[in-house]
Amino acid sequence: MRTIQEPSRRIPVIAEVDVVVCGGGPGGLPAAIAAARHGAKTLLIERYGFLGGLATAGLVAPILGHHAHNSSQPIVEGLLREITERMHALGGAPTWEETLARWGINFDAETFKRVADLLVQEAGVELLLHTLVTDVVVQDGRIAAVIIENKSGRQAIAAKVVVDATGDADVAYRAGAPTKQGRDFDGKVESMGSFMHLAGLPSLTDEARRAAVEQVRQAMAAGKLRFYNPGFLGVNDMRPDHTSPNMTRFAGDPTDGGDMTQAELSVRRDVWDLVAFLRDQVPGMEGVYLAATSPQVGPRESRQIVGGYALTGQDVHAGAKFADAIARGSWWVDIHCPLGNTYPVHLCIVECPRQESCPFWAAEHGRMFTRQGDQGTVYPPDGDWYDIPYRCLVPNAIDNLLVSGRCISATHEGMAGARVMGTCFAIGQAAGTAAALAAQANGRPRDVDVAQLRAALGADGALV
Ligand SMILES: Cc1cc2nc3c(=O)[nH]c(=O)nc-3n(C[C@H](O)[C@H](O)[C@H](O)COP(=O)(O)OP(=O)(O)OC[C@H]3O[C@@H](n4cnc5c(N)ncnc54)[C@H](O)[C@@H]3O)c2cc1C
Repeated sequence: MRTIQEPSRRIPVIAEVDVVVCGGGPGGLPAAIAAARHGAKTLLIERYGFLGGLATAGLVAPILGHHAHNSSQPIVEGLLREITERMHALGGAPTWEETLARWGINFDAETFKRVADLLVQEAGVELLLHTLVTDVVVQDGRIAAVIIENKSGRQAIAAKVVVDATGDADVAYRAGAPTKQGRDFDGKVESMGSFMHLAGLPSLTDEARRAAVEQVRQAMAAGKLRFYNPGFLGVNDMRPDHTSPNMTRFAGDPTDGGDMTQAELSVRRDVWDLVAFLRDQVPGMEGVYLAATSPQVGPRESRQIVGGYALTGQDVHAGAKFADAIARGSWWVDIHCPLGNTYPVHLCIVECPRQESCPFWAAEHGRMFTRQGDQGTVYPPDGDWYDIPYRCLVPNAIDNLLVSGRCISATHEGMAGARVMGTCFAIGQAAGTAAALAAQANGRPRDVDVAQLRAALGADGALV
């Protein structure tokens, strides 16, 4: 490939802080709030004009993983409960108690944005929106500066501790910390997807709703629509005439600009095909319209750090507990086909009819994730959870770096559980608290006293 030499240049250091958090999603937002509340001078950098990550930019909902498996016992509270209650106060989410009786926390994305603004400002977090973290300067094994780009140009931030919550481990990767991506045997990641907001829905009887979904299913089975599931009704239904389906699927590498471009074009085509089908073919749906597509297609899995421990599918299945636990997860090994196969292929192993011809099946056959016998092998035990060890957040290289959210250290199978937003929130609160503790000490998250961290989290209402 032809190359060009980029000239070096001097750039201004526009901020010197204790903690810089890169990325304001479910992993980064609570990290910034927690760090600031623990007294750290904290800067949060986000590439979009709003916070929330895939909760807002992906329109992803509901927030999953806040209670134990098949149980209403909460396993994540702290900042997740706080943001839920603040959204409830603005009419954008149910009460916390109501959410415990449900599959997940339904919420309104616009309310999430507003509450996120309020929480970061109240905590005293400095905020830079519309700003992309593009690079780092590493000196003596530490990140001496995070390089950013926005309309003001190219600038630098100096921080004692850096939290990478970009979802793609952008910072760790640029810093040269070891990273991995996807399945051990071929590097493929779970398929991406996007949410849409459909509005103008009529009030339907249960029978008519079932019939409408069945019509979509038949169109999928006939290859006329390309989705992985037909359940377009009743998803995150915060308003009676509104639904927010999670149906699209695209296989690709979220760290590749070309793949991300194709993903956007592909899912937008699929969404418009659905809207046309509903209007033209499904009785009562003539008035349905597309209120919004998500600003970005969402990666379920991307680049991750190699840390002191990698959470595994076996840990999810066993409800593993760790002495250095800093968060809890309960979501299962929920793998969306990395080959992008759509209906009837939904979840790997449990539901896939193509198993014998699938490379994942071949690689896993005879190990834990078999279809024979108990299909529950991908789930944690009922009423239980698995711990997220602090070691998963600490990269094996770069002294002043921590990660949060879906770029923690985990296998493909482990990440399939730990990636959901409730778990990312819990990880984020821990990452921010640890970053503040490290900034008060020697700036090395690796040296944080985990007993002190766990005590701080407990005192702040987190469940550890
Ligand atoms: C299709 C789909 C369906 C899903 N369904 C659910 C569900 O129903 N329930 C659930 O709980 N979870 C679900 N998830 C998973 C969940 O949304 C993600 O795993 C979670 O949002 C990860 O949080 P995060 O903060 O690590 O990353 P993200 O949510 O991706 O947030 C990363 C943030 O960093 C910012 N950023 C990235 N790079 C840079 C950079 N270089 N500089 C500055 N800012 C940057 C981004 O703009 C973003 O705000 C789903 C995911 C997908 C894709």
